[in-house]
Amino acid sequence: MKTAICPGSFDPITLGHLNIIERAAQIFDHVVVCVAANATKTHPMFTVEEKVEMVKLAIASIPNVSVEVNTGLLAEFARRYEGAVLIKGLRAASDFDYEFQMDSINKRLNPELETMFLTADQRYTFLSSSIVRELAHYGSDLHGLVPEEIIGPIEEKAKRR
Ligand code: ADP
Repeated sequence: MKTAICPGSFDPITLGHLNIIERAAQIFDHVVVCVAANATKTHPMFTVEEKVEMVKLAIASIPNVSVEVNTGLLAEFARRYEGAVLIKGLRAASDFDYEFQMDSINKRLNPELETMFLTADQRYTFLSSSIVRELAHYGSDLHGLVPEEIIGPIEEKAKRR
């Protein structure tokens, strides 16, 4: 069974992420969405539990996708799934520079681990979790940016902050 791992912070998951996950699910037998719990990023908007809950709502209708939390290094997490590859979305050249560096580090830690890239859907090349957080903060309409099922939870959280 060929497994793809889609890693990220998912703070929160966006339609750009979901597009990559759906496309990976058509190519691979199984897709694991890997939510980073120990991201060095400071001040996340959502707790890991909330991020996982939103991913679950977003992937509910895709049978071969599941979600896991990773508290360690991604290169070590990937060892749980034999022959798994990492799938990353590329929005722009700036993503490439960062991902090229990440792949080099991952290969040092786990030489068998390959990373494959899917180009972002043109509808979502501008979209990032940080843009969604910014818009949510100002009460903007989030339709077309994040899965419908999680608009309510994001708005609730933004109100409470
Ligand atoms: P990070 O926390 O490492 O910035 P994210 O959680 O934002 O990562 O995203 C994880 C992965 O999803 C990365 O490979 C990133 O390139 C990809 N991604 C993020 N937003 C989009 C988008 N709009 N379209 C395609 N891929 C995306």
